[in-house]
Amino acid sequence: MYVLTDGAVADVDGTRAADVAIADGEIVGVGKAAVTEAVEALDDADVTRVDVSGKVVAPGLVDAHVHVMMDARPDVATAADETDFTASFRAARNLRAAAEAGVVAVRDLGSRGTLALDAGELVVEGALTGPRVVACGRNVIMTGGHGNWFGREADGPAEVRKAAREQLKDGADVLKCMATGGVLTEGAVTGAPELTPEELEAFTDTAAPTNTPTAAHAHGDAGIENAVRAGITSIEHGTFMSAETADLMADEGTYWVPTASALHGIVDNGVEAGIPEDAVRKAEDAVDAFADAWEHALDAGVTIAMGTDAGTPFNTFEGIAGELAYMVEYGLSPAEALEAATVNAADLLGLDDVGRVAEGYRADLVVLDADPNEEVAAWSEPASVYLGGERVI
Ligand SMILES: [Zn+2]
Repeated sequence: MYVLTDGAVADVDGTRAADVAIADGEIVGVGKAAVTEAVEALDDADVTRVDVSGKVVAPGLVDAHVHVMMDARPDVATAADETDFTASFRAARNLRAAAEAGVVAVRDLGSRGTLALDAGELVVEGALTGPRVVACGRNVIMTGGHGNWFGREADGPAEVRKAAREQLKDGADVLKCMATGGVLTEGAVTGAPELTPEELEAFTDTAAPTNTPTAAHAHGDAGIENAVRAGITSIEHGTFMSAETADLMADEGTYWVPTASALHGIVDNGVEAGIPEDAVRKAEDAVDAFADAWEHALDAGVTIAMGTDAGTPFNTFEGIAGELAYMVEYGLSPAEALEAATVNAADLLGLDDVGRVAEGYRADLVVLDADPNEEVAAWSEPASVYLGGERVI
């Protein structure tokens, strides 16, 4: 058992002074009285006290959009020639980096075959150190569509249904499709719709019997609207979202995962850093629209879940705190960014045991040098990280 003493606790319920007791992978007490009771209930009194005075215990971060097999290289297309083994080693490395940065759960939205699903099983087994992994298997995309080098190409509602069922058969926790073109696929037009409304309907309908959440990559407004009307659970990127579509998302309860780090990773580094010119040009064209999308989403009250798209150019797993900083730059308060990166993202991933520092929750915690409800920079370089009650750093 660990008892974190004399610090503060910060989560979506606010910031307050409180000790925290951890045993058997769970939070078993928060606050002096509850911690004393938890310690007394243990026979063996095998308690490690950790002084966290002046520090703040917060829930670990949940990243709703990553690619565990990708390594943030400038030109993602060059990874297509690598073997599946190489991609798997990269995933192991990325998961450890994420854990050390304070990430306790990730949602992989596209990998080769069952790579991310398998990585998730190894994390549960304890063979890999990393956050829990919720994964989609392969992306379902139109023939020649965005991300076609690792996606499952499918055309027409029947084939889309089959492609989605294949992912469910492989154990997918979420289904992901491409509703529009993208920035990183040469020749793809960023905002152009890809899967049709009928194909998107077939996609969400396939997920419905098992209540499997669905995610759609969508930049252009028409594609976003198509996906929302088809009942998609979350819109990824949402770059060209209009005010009307933001209202529709708020009405439908559709989550938005903005992935600001993906856009900024490309724009801020540019062609000089080796990013293909086509991708840089498309990202630059999207920057102003993305700022507008934030205004529309905030005005409409769209529920935002944090996601980085880690693995895309210059968007590393260890750099997750940057996404929270971007969210604050685009208009969230530090407390709202915390909410997006903890409870909102946990809800989207279907995890009901992370996101708060409360009794009965998993001991997936970070110890920070400042209060993240006040200062978003508090998330960078956690002093320590606990994953399922085990201290990682
Ligand atoms: Zn992605």
